[in-house]
Amino acid sequence: MLLSLPLLVAATVLPLQEAAGTSPEIRAEDIARRIQTLSSDAFGGRGPGSQGETTTIDYLIEQFQAMGLEPGGEGGGWTQPVPMVELTPEASPKSRFVGPGGEATELMHGRDVVLWSEQLGGEISVADSEVIFAGYGIVAPEFEWNDYAGLDVKGKTVLVMVNDPGFATQDPALFRGNAMTYYGRWTYKFEEAERQGAAACLIIHDEAAAGYGWTVVDQSWSRPQLQLGGDVKERSLRVDGWISGDAATSLVAAAGQDLAALAAAASTREAKSGPLPGVTFFTSFGNRMQRVTSANVVAQRKGRTKPDEYVLVCAHWDHLGTREGSEDEDNIYNGAVDNASGSASLLELAEAIAAQETAPARSILFLVTTAEEKGLLGSKYYAENPIVPLAKTVCGLNIDVANTLGPMKDIVVVGYGASELDQDLAAMALAQGRTIVPEASPEKGYYFRSDHFSLAKVGVPMMYMGEGTVSVEHGEEWVTRKKAEFTRRHYHKLSDEYDPSWDLGGAVEDVQLFHGLVNLWANEPRGREWSADSEFRAAREKSLRGR
Ligand SMILES: [Zn+2]
Repeated sequence: MLLSLPLLVAATVLPLQEAAGTSPEIRAEDIARRIQTLSSDAFGGRGPGSQGETTTIDYLIEQFQAMGLEPGGEGGGWTQPVPMVELTPEASPKSRFVGPGGEATELMHGRDVVLWSEQLGGEISVADSEVIFAGYGIVAPEFEWNDYAGLDVKGKTVLVMVNDPGFATQDPALFRGNAMTYYGRWTYKFEEAERQGAAACLIIHDEAAAGYGWTVVDQSWSRPQLQLGGDVKERSLRVDGWISGDAATSLVAAAGQDLAALAAAASTREAKSGPLPGVTFFTSFGNRMQRVTSANVVAQRKGRTKPDEYVLVCAHWDHLGTREGSEDEDNIYNGAVDNASGSASLLELAEAIAAQETAPARSILFLVTTAEEKGLLGSKYYAENPIVPLAKTVCGLNIDVANTLGPMKDIVVVGYGASELDQDLAAMALAQGRTIVPEASPEKGYYFRSDHFSLAKVGVPMMYMGEGTVSVEHGEEWVTRKKAEFTRRHYHKLSDEYDPSWDLGGAVEDVQLFHGLVNLWANEPRGREWSADSEFRAAREKSLRGR
C-alpha cells in the first residue's frame, strides 16, 4: 500500500463521519438532529435501567465511534457500569415524638414528616432516641463555624435547619450572605449527621430557606428512591427526613422551648445548639430493595503531549422515563430540553474536538452520565470511582440544558466566583461579543443541583453555565418570560418535547464557546484553581497531595 498518511486517515475517518450524517463543524442542524433522536419516543424518555437506556447507550457509543474517538470507560470499553438500588419505604412509616412527661405526639407521614432510609433494605427502626437541636448542622472550618462543637449526637436524632446562617441573616459577612453555600443544601445536612454518628436527621422545612414548598418535599421523597448500590458501607444514619415547620415547632415546644428563638440564636456567631431535654423520637418501617444496573458512557480524545492529564466534559443522558398509564395517551417523558439538548451539545463538541487535526496537549474525557435526575448518581459514582485520577483531572464543564431561544448577548455563570474558570469564560465570551452574568438566584443553590457538583465535591474545578438573559433579537423581558413559561409548562413534564421552531443559533455559539474553553484548558501549561473561599478548595488540596 502506497497511501500517504493523511490519505489513510481520511480514508478511515470520512466514511464514518458520513455514517453519522453530521458535520464536524458546529452546526444548528446537527444539534437539532441529535436532540430529535435522543428525545424521540423510541428512546422511551431515557429512564435508567429501562429499555430506553439500552437504546440511548447504543446511540451514544455509535456517535462517538463514528467521530473516531476512543473508548474511555472501564476495561477499555465505552461504559462505566453504575450499580444502583431502588428503595421503597412502606406506604406510611409510623413515627412519633414523646415529651418529658411521657406524652406522645403522632407524626403524620406526608403532612408532618417525610421519612426514608438509605439503609439497604430490611426493618428500619429508631427508638427512644434523644432529640438534639443542632442549629444548621454545619461544620465549616473555612467559615469558622461548627454547630456540632461540644455535642455528642451518636445514636441520637438531630433536628437541623435548611440553608445557612448567611441566608437567614442576609449578612454578607456570614458564609456567603444571600448566596447558598453547599453547607445549606439538604444533602450536606445528612452527610454531616452521618459523619457525626447520628441515628436520625430531620431537616426543618422552611419554604424560603429551602427554595421550594412542602409539596415538593412530599412528592420527591414519598416515591421509590434510587441510590448507588454496590459495596455500600454501613451507615450510622438510619433515618433521613424532613419535618414541617409546624411539627418542628410543637416538637421543640414539648421541651418548653421556642423554635423561632432557637433559630435566631443559631444564626449568630454565638450559635447555641443542644439537647431538647426529655424529648425522644421513635419510628419504624420496612425498606424494600431492588437492584438496578445502569451505566455512564465515556469517550476520550488522547492528548498529544500530556495524555495522562484530562479536561472533563459531562452531560446527563437520562431523564424521567415512561410512566405507567393507558396506551392511548402519551406517557413518555421525552426530556428534549432536559437533557437531550445538553447531550446533543456534548456530542457536537466531541465531534468538533475529534475533527481537530492536532489533538490538544491534554486528553479530553467525555462523560455522559446516568441518573442525574435521581440525585446525580452517575456522576457521584464516577467521582467515587474515577476512571482517570481526580488529581490529574485539571478542570471541566457540565452541560445541563442547551439554549433553544436563539443568540444571546450574555451567558449565565452558575456558582459565579467559585473558581478561576469564570475568567476564562469571560474572555472567551468577550471574543464572541458577549458578557458573563452571575445567576439571578444564588440563594437557591443551583450550583449543587447538577453533575458538575459531584466532581466539585471531590475537588475538581468545574464550570456550569445557564442560558443567557438578553436575547440579541428580542431583549431581556422576552427571555425572562420564555424561561418562566418553560418552567411552568414543560419542566419535568410530558410536554418537554422537540420543537422545530426552536432557534439553536445560541446553542451553536455556546458549543463554540465550550470548544474554545476546552482547548484552552487542555493546552495551557498550568491547571485551574478554586477561589480562596471556596468550600471545594480543601478537597482539591487533599486530592493533589495524594498525587
Ligand atoms: Zn438536567
